[in-house]
Amino acid sequence: MDTKAIKRAAEILRDSRHVAVLTGSGISAESGIPTFRGKDGLWKQFRAEDLATPEAFARDPKLVWEWYDWRRGIIAKVEPNPGHRTLAKWEEFFHEFSVITQNIDGLHAKAGSKNILELHGNIWKVRCTKDKNVTENYTVPLTEIPPACPVCGAMLRPHVVWFGESLDTGILSRAFGLSSSCDVMLVIGTSAFVQPAASLPLRAAESGAKIIEINPDPTPLTSYAEISLPGKAGEILPAIDGLLQKE
Ligand SMILES: [Zn+2]
Repeated sequence: MDTKAIKRAAEILRDSRHVAVLTGSGISAESGIPTFRGKDGLWKQFRAEDLATPEAFARDPKLVWEWYDWRRGIIAKVEPNPGHRTLAKWEEFFHEFSVITQNIDGLHAKAGSKNILELHGNIWKVRCTKDKNVTENYTVPLTEIPPACPVCGAMLRPHVVWFGESLDTGILSRAFGLSSSCDVMLVIGTSAFVQPAASLPLRAAESGAKIIEINPDPTPLTSYAEISLPGKAGEILPAIDGLLQKE
C-alpha cells in the first residue's frame, strides 16, 4: 500500500465535513459477490442481459424470478467486508456522510450504513406491479414464484433497475445534489463507465470537491482524482481509518 497517499487521504478527510461516497461492484466483489455479468453471470445458459429486462419479465416472469431467487440465495450468504464496515462507522465521524451505490446487494445496510442512495434498487426489495408499493422481502428461497403482493394479490417484481429502464429521478437528483455539495468524494470499486453514475464524480470535481479513488485498476476517472489508491477497499479504508482515529 502507498502509505504516503493513504496519509494524504486521511488529511483530506480530516479537513472535510461533508463526504459523499460512490461505490460499485468492486467493493461487493471483495466480499465474494459475483458480477452476474459475462461468464460469472451465466445461469441455465441465460445471460444477465437476457433476464434483467422488462421484456423478459413480461414474457416469462417465473423464469426471471427463478433467476433472482438464485441470486438472492448467493447474496444472502455473503457478509460485508472491512471496507463496508469502515464506511458505516464513518457516518458518525463526519458532519454529513452519504453512500451512493450502484450495488443492489444491500451489503452497505448490512454493515450498518443508514444514509444510502441505491441508484439501481435493491434485490431485497419487491415492488407491486399494480400499486407500485415497495416492501422489503428477505425470504430465501422464495415460497412462491412469482411472488404476489400481500395487499392486492398482483404480481411482485424485483425493485431493481433493469436494462432499458430509467433510474429513479428522485434518487438521481439527490445523488447529484450530494455530489455538488460535498467537500470530498470517495469513488470505490467502480469503473465509472456506466452513465449516469459516472457523471457524479465529475459533478463533484466541477463543484470543487476533492476526489479520492480506490480501485485496483486505473479508470477514466483517475485523471480527475486528487488521490488514486490502487488496491482493495477492505484494506485501504481501514488503513485510512487507523490514521483518522490517531488525532
Ligand atoms: Zn399490490
